[in-house]
Amino acid sequence: MHDFAVVGCGPAGSRFARRAAQRGFDVLAFEQGAVGEPLACSGHVSTDVWEYTPEGARERLLQNVVYGARFHLAGPDAGAAAVASPVEGADAPAPGESAAGPSASGGGAEAPAPGEATPEAGEGSPGPAASNGGTATRGAVAAGEPGYPFYKDAQVSNVIDRVGLDRELADAARAAGANLCEEHTVLDVDEHEDRVELDVRGPDGTETHEARMVAGCDGPTSRVRRDLGLPEPGELLHGVLGFSAEDDPGDFVDVHLTVPRFFAWRIPRGGAGVEYGLAMPPGGDVSERFEEFTAGYGVETDHRCSGLIPVGPPETVTADRAFLVGDAAAQTKPFTGGGILYGMTAADHAAREIDPADPGTLADYERAWRADLEREIALGHWVRRAYSLPEPIQRAGLSALSGEIGVHMDRPTTLFSVAQLKSLLSR
Ligand SMILES: Cc1cc2nc3c(=O)[nH]c(=O)nc-3n(C[C@H](O)[C@H](O)[C@H](O)COP(=O)(O)OP(=O)(O)OC[C@H]3O[C@@H](n4cnc5c(N)ncnc54)[C@H](O)[C@@H]3O)c2cc1C
Repeated sequence: MHDFAVVGCGPAGSRFARRAAQRGFDVLAFEQGAVGEPLACSGHVSTDVWEYTPEGARERLLQNVVYGARFHLAGPDAGAAAVASPVEGADAPAPGESAAGPSASGGGAEAPAPGEATPEAGEGSPGPAASNGGTATRGAVAAGEPGYPFYKDAQVSNVIDRVGLDRELADAARAAGANLCEEHTVLDVDEHEDRVELDVRGPDGTETHEARMVAGCDGPTSRVRRDLGLPEPGELLHGVLGFSAEDDPGDFVDVHLTVPRFFAWRIPRGGAGVEYGLAMPPGGDVSERFEEFTAGYGVETDHRCSGLIPVGPPETVTADRAFLVGDAAAQTKPFTGGGILYGMTAADHAAREIDPADPGTLADYERAWRADLEREIALGHWVRRAYSLPEPIQRAGLSALSGEIGVHMDRPTTLFSVAQLKSLLSR
């Protein structure tokens, strides 16, 4: 019997498999397809990601660096009218939106939130944007109106090759001794008093495997969660992405607060073109809104893909001999939908706390990840509420808060940090 069976080899599953194998446990992991595919993610992450990857991964995976985000209350085409006929005034830059706005390109389903972010800005002023080739200008023009910049005086985040990330993490798990099987779909999970049983369909047919515990790392619509009757996430957002071949070396993300209860984004990806995306509660006209958004930028996208973003967290992510990690546990940032870092953080807590021979240690995992992330997630919900405030209040808030900031994009609690206070006082 194996110590751990892992269902799903995204960032959470591969990270858990690697850490558990490093502790000397016998780990058998299943991925239903090829690791990393199909892509449904912007791969916009804080620089902390490199703490979780094998040596040299940054050189292999990095597509672009991001210094901050420009927030917009209107769509990309709104400012075009203002530029074309400024005297009409209707779309004139608001206080805090200098016509020369900073660089900007940022976001993705992982945009720095207001009060988080990066760049130095101001067209023509020295700073990250200018030092990266003056890309701010191009992004600002593309976004129509200049927006409200949030930035740091250092790199805030990376845009990375997400498929490549998953492969690197899976290879690292294998190197640590985990047996990671691609093209193996887990069909059924049963808990027993002393073990779990998994029915798994692979290229050679369906087999049953036994393990002391099972890690459900199988994403937003987790089978493990469903089979074991664990609570579903409070909400599942629907995200859509598309790519254009534009050559935009910008280093800011553009974030448009123009869709219900979330946002649309534009991310320059270095040599990999430009990504456009949006996420919103399902049931709405997601595709139609995506078309409108990209039309506003005057681009056509291809390689369209979509996915679900769970928002939680649920009351519990552990059962008798099972636990959930990553999107399966809705361990995501409610204000950006980003889950790569939270999933891997929780995976480390699980690998450190859980002894497969002692189901009592599942409670230790539950305590550990909540102690680390639950307050961040709770604050993330508050940040997200700002996306739905009346526009005059949003405008006033963005005007007051935009500029250089001292917060960490994965840690909303740093909104109350000394660094953030200093940034506010130094304006
Ligand atoms: C449009 C969009 C954009 C996003 N952008 C960002 C971003 O910029 N930054 C960020 O941090 N996050 C982003 N996210 C969120 C991010 O993609 C997830 O949080 C992250 O992938 C979660 O990792 P995971 O390992 O928990 O789950 P997943 O990456 O979903 O991995 C789960 C794996 O389980 C496998 N699996 C499922 N069921 C089975 C089964 N029965 N048997 C075997 N295998 C199975 C799947 O094939 C998959 O490989 C985005 C999400 C969306 C939808």
